[in-house]
Amino acid sequence: MRALYPGSFDPLTLGHLDLIERSARLFDGLVVAVLQNPGKQPCFPLEQRLEQIRKATAHLEGVEVGSFDGLTVNYARLCGAQVILRGLRAMSDFEFELQIAHTNKSLDPQMETLFLATAAHHSFLSSSVVKEVARFGGDVTPMVPAGVAVDLARLFNRASHHG
Ligand code: ADP
Repeated sequence: MRALYPGSFDPLTLGHLDLIERSARLFDGLVVAVLQNPGKQPCFPLEQRLEQIRKATAHLEGVEVGSFDGLTVNYARLCGAQVILRGLRAMSDFEFELQIAHTNKSLDPQMETLFLATAAHHSFLSSSVVKEVARFGGDVTPMVPAGVAVDLARLFNRASHHG
């Protein structure tokens, strides 16, 4: 069985990566896909986010990286995935995630949404927290893959030099 793990991944965190590693063991194939959301202005351009994910998942067999816009269920079908995978960190994720899951179910009754509980030590980690810490010069190395830490340092060094 194949699964799609969609998200903004702006940027990829160790929480995302933990979910990817665990689900790669559960499925024959896993597509990690960056959603190009017109409603969100990303910090990292699409191509850079794809590169971050490619680098961080290079050691994993059966993991592909892609991007899409439009309906997740359509892209999932295109990937040959029967399952859409999402992570649940805390109750605060639950209501929103349930709403998306029900919407996707009504759009495609064949598609299942599967939630994995995130690793306890990553449950307070989010892309936005990582960006806040990096912006103010904090150490993000325990939070993100090495390549992403380099990208964050570059992004915010440049930003501070140019005001
Ligand atoms: P989106 O904008 O689609 O929520 P994100 O990149 O923030 O995109 O999250 C993508 C998926 O990864 C979501 O299912 C989210 O719950 C999950 N996720 C976010 N942070 C973590 C984390 N620290 N550990 C595991 N999963 C996470």
